[in-house]
Parts: sequence; C-alpha cells; structure tokens
Amino acid sequence: MRTVGLLGGMSAESTTLYYQAMNRMVRERLGGLHSMQLLMWSVDFAPIAQMQADGDWQAAGEVLAQAAARLEGAGAQAIMIGANTMHLVADQVQAAVSVPLIHIADATAGAVKAAGCSRPLLLATRFTMEKPFYRDRLSAQGVEAMIPGEADRERLHAIIYDELCQGVVTQASKAEVLAMIAKTGEADCVIFGCTEVGLLLSPADLALPVIDTALVHAQAGVDFALG
Ligand code: GLU
Repeated sequence: MRTVGLLGGMSAESTTLYYQAMNRMVRERLGGLHSMQLLMWSVDFAPIAQMQADGDWQAAGEVLAQAAARLEGAGAQAIMIGANTMHLVADQVQAAVSVPLIHIADATAGAVKAAGCSRPLLLATRFTMEKPFYRDRLSAQGVEAMIPGEADRERLHAIIYDELCQGVVTQASKAEVLAMIAKTGEADCVIFGCTEVGLLLSPADLALPVIDTALVHAQAGVDFALG
C-alpha cells in the first residue's frame, strides 16, 4: 500500500470524516484488519481562517506548503488537502513537493460525471463558490456548477465557519440549506463542496444525486494508496 499525506484540521470536524471514510474504504476493499496507511499534518485552523478572511492566501499557502514538504519528508507518496477552499493554494502546495497532489475538484468532477450529471449546484464557502479556482477547474472537465444567490451564499458561508467547523449542527440551519437547494430548479445534482456539509445534510434529505466532496476525495486517496 502506498502512503498518503493528508493536510487536515480545515476543519478538524471534517478531517475526522476523512479518517473514518478512508479506513472504512480500505477495509471494504482489502477486508479483515486492513486500514489506511496515512500520514497527517493537522493545522491549527484559527490562524488559517484569519488569513483567508484577510485575503492573505500567500501566507496560508506557505503554511500548507511547508506542512506538505514535511509530509513528503516523512514518506508521503501523495498529498491531499482535506478541504475545498484551501485548494485555492493548490499550485503553491504542489510546487513545494515532488509527489502528486490529489486534487479535490478533479475527484468531484469525476464523481459528477459518473453520476450522469453535468449541472450541479455547488454548496461551499464564499471563496469556493465565488472565486474562479474551483468552478473553472470543474468547467475544464465539462461540469458547469451553479451557485446560490448572494444572500444565500453569505448565510451558507456563516453556517460553515460559525457552526459546522465548530462542531455545531442544528435543525434550523439544515432547514435553511434545504430551502436554498429547493430554489435552484435547474441543477441535476448537488455538490457538498465544503467538507463539513455532510455533517449537516445527508443524501437521503435530497431528491437530487449528491456528490460529497469529503467522501469522493477520500476515495481518490484510497484509490491512490491501493493503486
Ligand atoms: N472545509 C471547508 C472546505 O471544504 C471549509 C473550511 C476551509 O476554509 O478550509 O472548503
């Protein structure tokens, strides 16, 4: 099995999901006592989130680039950033290592197409919904993502940072996000484009197919590990 290096802690709530999912997926593939061969560098998210809010992506990227280099030095054969938003600095992280970066948007585009869809609704942080780095990468793979309206984007961003990333899951916020989804009639699937959204919603809550980025990214990491 190859060793994967996961940059975690963004937030710690979703890193737990990655850890559980990757170990379960390896066990399902190999059986018995098999589990994921994993290195993890889990950051303190507060200073990173502050750099995001300040628009200091260079500094946030440097934190992840240094951590990625340490993971490579410890034996990681690929790097994963366990969040969508921080893929804004994916090129900076990739430049710091000689092993591949397993990109969450590539795993997501592949899963959207595998579900027979091409017009997803993207639920994510404002950075991921509004900046070009993520939707352009989907678009280059034939997936044209829609995003909620301005007020809904702002509210969803607040739910992610003020609640989900802090381990707070409420029925009220769940109802709000379901109402946002119901407004977007043309979508043929929904991307949980923030790795914490799966804490709030489950595919059973929705009539449309769901692509949970934490799970498809975890699967991509397992596929790499198992060759
Ligand atoms: N985990 C989230 C994501 O997938 C949001 C936290 C972050 O800004 O990294 O985008």
